[in-house]
Amino acid sequence: PRGPGIRWAKAPCRFCGVGCGVMVGTRQGRVVAVKGDDQHPGTKGLLCAKGYSLPAILTGGDRLTTPLIRKGGKLVKATWDEALDLVARRFKETLAAKGPEAVAIYGSGQWMITDGYAATKWFRAGMGSNNVEANARLCMASAVTGFMSTFGSDEPMGCFEDLALCDVLILWGNNMAEAHPVLFGQVLESKGANPAKRIVDLATRRTPTSDFADTHLLMAPQSDLAIANGIAHLLVKKGAVDKDFIARHVVFKRGKEQIGYGLADKSKFADEPKKATFEEYAAFLETYTPEHVAKVSGLSVAALEQLAGYFADPKLKVMSVWCMGVNQHSRGTWMNNLIYNLHLLTGKICKPGSTAYSITGQPSACGTVREVGDLAHRLPADMVVMNPEHRAIAARIWKVPVERINPKPGHHTVEMFRALDRGDITCMWIQVTNPFVSLPNVERYRKGARKDGRFIVVSDVYPTVTTDFADVVLPSAMWVEREGLFGNSDRRTQHWDQLAEPPKGCLPDDWQIIEVARRMGLGDLFPKDRATYVKELFEEYRQFTVGTGKDLGTFEELKAARGLRWPVVKGRETARRYVEGEDPFVKAGEGVSFYKNKADGGRAVVWLRPWEGPAEVPDAEYPLWFCTGRMLEHWHTGTMTRRVPQLNRAQPGGFLEIHPEDAKALGVADGGQVKVTSRRGSVTLPCRFAARGKVPRGTVYTSFFDESQLINAVTQDSICPISAEPDYKKCACRVEKA
Ligand code: SF4
Repeated sequence: PRGPGIRWAKAPCRFCGVGCGVMVGTRQGRVVAVKGDDQHPGTKGLLCAKGYSLPAILTGGDRLTTPLIRKGGKLVKATWDEALDLVARRFKETLAAKGPEAVAIYGSGQWMITDGYAATKWFRAGMGSNNVEANARLCMASAVTGFMSTFGSDEPMGCFEDLALCDVLILWGNNMAEAHPVLFGQVLESKGANPAKRIVDLATRRTPTSDFADTHLLMAPQSDLAIANGIAHLLVKKGAVDKDFIARHVVFKRGKEQIGYGLADKSKFADEPKKATFEEYAAFLETYTPEHVAKVSGLSVAALEQLAGYFADPKLKVMSVWCMGVNQHSRGTWMNNLIYNLHLLTGKICKPGSTAYSITGQPSACGTVREVGDLAHRLPADMVVMNPEHRAIAARIWKVPVERINPKPGHHTVEMFRALDRGDITCMWIQVTNPFVSLPNVERYRKGARKDGRFIVVSDVYPTVTTDFADVVLPSAMWVEREGLFGNSDRRTQHWDQLAEPPKGCLPDDWQIIEVARRMGLGDLFPKDRATYVKELFEEYRQFTVGTGKDLGTFEELKAARGLRWPVVKGRETARRYVEGEDPFVKAGEGVSFYKNKADGGRAVVWLRPWEGPAEVPDAEYPLWFCTGRMLEHWHTGTMTRRVPQLNRAQPGGFLEIHPEDAKALGVADGGQVKVTSRRGSVTLPCRFAARGKVPRGTVYTSFFDESQLINAVTQDSICPISAEPDYKKCACRVEKA
């Protein structure tokens, strides 16, 4: 729409971790248009199909606008006071009867920063419970443990600009064209200006990204560990490592599990990491000959030598990028470590265009879950509950006795839902996510949630499968219906003002938490004034970051800017961390300093991590690989995008990609219904031969956006033992004509 009366204001996109800058047009308190924000320094006016559809996600015809309480098996309308009083009473009763380990809150990388902060403070400082988790555990936990174990600090050192500056972009199992389309657009634009730029696509199927790649390498599922070690083997054998960089900035370590970065129970880990020498590392790599790795991965020896050649060439700027393919992996932490190894060995890190970059899936998985610390073992700013000094800092800022903060980590996501099943947790609040569609091996957790004696609160915008499990449903205000802040993949914290009125009856998620806390007698933890609480909460949270190298901009600085990338010192953002002249925490003369890794003297760690096979592999009974991923038009379980008519028309329902020869052998025609079965469950859906992606023989693939098809009844819930992130990407299945 054009014409008089439209007011334009900045906001980030509501969907993915790129956090594109959007200009939002409103008229009389309603969002009537969006356009790309060409003043946005990161995304420069570009949006994808989801971004352009943002206004429609606010106006689906079935918005929840009234609290609901389950009575006689049915959800019936209630007032806010009735609903909030009931939630507060049930939390209080559970605490009194069973203690802090029986309550839980499960949020999201779509939580705004103040939502996640209110949740963590209410739980840790108010109730002494660490059962605070978010669905980012399911997508980014391995990235967190990868960063922590290699660099001693979470989140990337590089920046979006490096995508344009690199000579070689290696995509490790990352369908960037669909999952992060605006970033991929920037890659292609830079390739147009520099045709010598090379894009390498390592993947288990052909995707739209493969179509633009110079080299598409089809690898066997889980063979990425062997490939990375195989590249390192060639680099070491050829002496193509940066000895000076290694001598100044790297230590070598061995140890399979590494204690303390993810899981709660230290007793599970017997092997403390041990220092190793370069010679021991070289000996460890001996088995990863090109011939052995070729056999494991399906790549040719020539392809492995080409990959090693890119890292070996001192003139080339090489950037690695990954997302869920590496993180949703039974050895996700190791795989993150192994990619860093290649960049650390060759010094191709912390330089414009040379870096290793883990991209985030959700809009504030970084800014909220990772930075605020909405994982069961964490506190804000990379601190952990197990550390007494960290607890003391948190207690001082929160103005509570330090004894209030429980030193025992809570349950990670998968364990949290197992605890709900067992009855160890009986009172749970779920906000901004749809776990009874999105959890792996989901039927197991759906059964647990339906057991007697469980009390489940769900805050959401629309009815979902998960609201069907609720005892109380609370209607939420979303996106620009409230003031908020997100932190994107580029370490950019972005503020927006409230630009539209929420439907009458909807409240922000953080304010819902504050109202319940107040009813429990914990109101002193939180600001009282609806008009100013977002600023007050954020400024309190910011205190955790000041002076740590993760310093956030002030609320007023962020309000004025198109986001700022931390560390922000005196209003100046940082494009590249650990680099003299860019990162204010690196001293003059140091050049590069991994200063957050104090335990290793400011050096990064090259880890000796072996290749290990997948948790489940095809066999005679379940002969096919079942792989999952995202699709351009839809967001997660589709609760928003399936209410956008144009996106829904473009992709109206889920389907299974299958190779025509495999389908022929099963007697299945293109478009025919098939039943996919694993050891855990089954789903029936149509199949397609010529979809956007193309699977190799022996593999089928699907996406989980269609909540009417329970894809996750099939997936497995085995986890990376360090990060506790499940491996959604691969399991064994059988397919039959339905
Ligand atoms: Fe939104 Fe991501 Fe698309 Fe950008 S790339 S418009 S952040 S969904």
